[in-house]
Amino acid sequence: MKILVVNAGSSSLKYQLIDMGTKEVVAKGLCERIAIQGSRLTYKPAGKQPCVVERHMNDHTDAIKMVLDALVDPEIGVLKSMDEIDAVGHRIVHGGEKFSESTLLTDEVLSVIESLTELAPLHNPANLMGIRACKAIMPNTPMVGVFDTAFHQTMPMEAFLYGLPYAAYTDLMVRRYGFHGTSHKYVTQRALELLGKPVEETKIITCHLGNGSSITAVRGGKSIDTSMGFTPLEGIPMGTRCGSMDPAIVTYLMDKLDLDVNGINAYMNKKSGVYGISGISSDFRDLHDAAEKGDEKAKAALRVFAYNVKKYIGAYAAALNGVDGIVFTAGIGENDRVLRAMVLEGLDYLGVDVDFEYNNTCPRGEEAELSTKNSKVKVFVIPTDEEMMIAQDTAKLAAK
Ligand code: AMP
Repeated sequence: MKILVVNAGSSSLKYQLIDMGTKEVVAKGLCERIAIQGSRLTYKPAGKQPCVVERHMNDHTDAIKMVLDALVDPEIGVLKSMDEIDAVGHRIVHGGEKFSESTLLTDEVLSVIESLTELAPLHNPANLMGIRACKAIMPNTPMVGVFDTAFHQTMPMEAFLYGLPYAAYTDLMVRRYGFHGTSHKYVTQRALELLGKPVEETKIITCHLGNGSSITAVRGGKSIDTSMGFTPLEGIPMGTRCGSMDPAIVTYLMDKLDLDVNGINAYMNKKSGVYGISGISSDFRDLHDAAEKGDEKAKAALRVFAYNVKKYIGAYAAALNGVDGIVFTAGIGENDRVLRAMVLEGLDYLGVDVDFEYNNTCPRGEEAELSTKNSKVKVFVIPTDEEMMIAQDTAKLAAK
């Protein structure tokens, strides 16, 4: 079975063709600058030379056409015909309270996703464009939607409700939704295999630390709390996002810096986080370089980030009444040994015993167990694979 995974943004479209038999990525790539001058397709077939096609794409339908043309091209293609694609899995950012799992994308489902646009005004319309483009070109191929929010729909009310008037929830849909659900679900599945305990008894904390970061408490394989909230701005300070703070700061800064709604949103989403603190970069490699040269603000940014991750681990250990496994994933979690050590130092009260030497020497971006044999809590690095998770869900639903 071959699944095409599509992640459509407003002017871009990432794709992967995955063979579910071999679990291999047969081809992958990206359409950039859709409907903007200078559009181009990057196409990387497995085992062959990657190529770039520079041709104008009027819209997402043009983009999908170019992807499919490349996939079936006699020279550079990996398929004889489009019919070899058994189903298409689409990443969808917001499923609100309507979707607690992946679902077949019928016309009725598409209108429900459309009705959630207010919750994700930048993302859901772009995701819908990608879906509609695929449906137009492949009308007989099953399409499945996989939502970033779905995994967190198991959160209990006390975790998702904010301390606001109840009507903010009932009338305006204000509640914690959580994001990165596909990644948290993927690494949870793998951690459950590694722990080898009965699933119902497991307590796991998954730390997705990348440009956007979120931490999730998982009991019995289900999300019971997560650090991102109504939007992906809440939680720990991230690359350029501020994370949680006193909400009164918002109006204070609007007043002092003379910012309107767009201005404060840009300030909190694009100019804050470790980038805002350091004034250098949102990339942790740059921050470590600067910190090594003695830059105090870069050191501060790294310490703030690590401290906040540690604080969530403590909070979620309390919420779970203990913890069996802590998982690190995504760009920082998989690669940044120094940051991991900063988070893991001083967690012995929880029963965490880390082999810090191995943490420093284990290959980057590969699965690793960082805890010692005697550690009560297992600590894993598990590379995330959101596309594979989307493909798995899509294959399951398409087979039905
Ligand atoms: P992601 O959003 O998961 O793709 O993560 C991207 C982020 O991972 C980058 O902005 C870096 O901060 C971080 N990252 C990637 N590679 C490394 C590395 N070797 N060391 C430290 N941080 C890294």
